[in-house]
Amino acid sequence: MENLYFTEEHKMLRDMVRDFARNEVKPLAQELDESGGFPHESVEKMAELGLMGIPWEEKYGGTGMDTLALVIAIEELGKVCPSTGATMMAHTSLGTAPIALFGTDEQKEKYLPGLASGKKIGAFGLTEPNAGSDAGNTQTRAVLEGDEYIVNGEKAFCTNAGVASVMIFTAVMVEEGEEKGISAFVIDADTEGMSVNPPEKKMGWCGSDTRSVFFKDMRVPISAVLGNPSKGFTQFLKTLTGGRITIGALGLGTAQGGYLKALEYSQEREAFGKPINAFQGISFKLSDMATQIEAARHLVYYAAWKKDQGLPVIREAAMAKLFSSETAMKVTTEAIQVLGGFGYIKEYDVERFFRDAKILEIGEGTSEVQRIIIAREIFKNIQNI
Ligand SMILES: Cc1cc2nc3c(=O)[nH]c(=O)nc-3n(C[C@H](O)[C@H](O)[C@H](O)COP(=O)(O)OP(=O)(O)OC[C@H]3O[C@@H](n4cnc5c(N)ncnc54)[C@H](O)[C@@H]3O)c2cc1C
Repeated sequence: MENLYFTEEHKMLRDMVRDFARNEVKPLAQELDESGGFPHESVEKMAELGLMGIPWEEKYGGTGMDTLALVIAIEELGKVCPSTGATMMAHTSLGTAPIALFGTDEQKEKYLPGLASGKKIGAFGLTEPNAGSDAGNTQTRAVLEGDEYIVNGEKAFCTNAGVASVMIFTAVMVEEGEEKGISAFVIDADTEGMSVNPPEKKMGWCGSDTRSVFFKDMRVPISAVLGNPSKGFTQFLKTLTGGRITIGALGLGTAQGGYLKALEYSQEREAFGKPINAFQGISFKLSDMATQIEAARHLVYYAAWKKDQGLPVIREAAMAKLFSSETAMKVTTEAIQVLGGFGYIKEYDVERFFRDAKILEIGEGTSEVQRIIIAREIFKNIQNI
């Protein structure tokens, strides 16, 4: 599969991130999960390695690589610590991508060097307490007053919000009492009027920062509107499409984290005088896990490759996200079964991958939402079957 998709540069990146993940991220993963902290140390090292700005132009401090390269790095991090993978993924595909893809030259110059180099962390607030899947029901309002917008509202579940220096959020623009549609805004996270709650206590991704963000009479200049104001809604839909490929990559890594543990354990553990992988009941599980991972890998790499060719990718990104996240859930569930009682014990690590897998079926569009998108795309192209 590598030969189908990877250039020499991709292979070098994969080897570099794999070494880093195994040697520097993996030893911290269990403690990070238990303490519920934030992987500051790993983020600093990832910044030094250029991993916090993989797809962005070198002139802005990025690595100048492509979506496939980003996918490879997220997959490798996900194999050892999905929380650390989530931090890098959200920073890149949600907290930086909207600026890199749609920002004005001034916005790029102001924000990208810090974000792409990893000196600053970005967060993206779309979801609200009453607007998740139904993001069009955004209640946050940005009311134009002179040459400023006054923003009021609340964003829920923002990844990286407590550590971010740059915050991107969506709001309905209101001008002269009339609603003008949803736009994205980019601000410094220390802007007066913005505040964050303590971190959420979560089932998984325990080493990733998730918080509610509040805007109370926050004044932002017109120049904070991200890119073209009349294209705000399509801009954030495009951001989410790219984000789905990266969630697919994290699913791929998370699934492998569970699978590799199960594979190793099945060779060592003996029952009835044999290693348990000699039992068909166990070897069939491992066969299914390996097959599902391979299928997910094709979908994720293909979606990334297609995006890098500048081709439409809505259907492929949704399929990659749906299949890969459901694969992560299935594979990590079976991994626990392969380890039996030990699979249920934290020390053996597979239950961490299982807990980290569940969010992948929810974040950046639930599995149900992915099926809606795929169905829409299928029906749209029905005449081409
Ligand atoms: C750890 C974590 C990190 C997150 N990070 C971010 C972030 O950085 N930025 C951000 O903006 N958001 C983030 N989110 C929010 C996440 O994207 C939303 O939770 C998700 O989109 C679902 O929205 P919701 O929770 O409001 O669920 P709802 O939309 O209320 O959905 C509830 C259930 O109803 C189903 N449903 C809803 N509509 C339909 C429909 N039309 N047809 C069929 N079923 C439907 C859903 O699939 C789901 O099963 C994060 C969430 C978590 C838990």
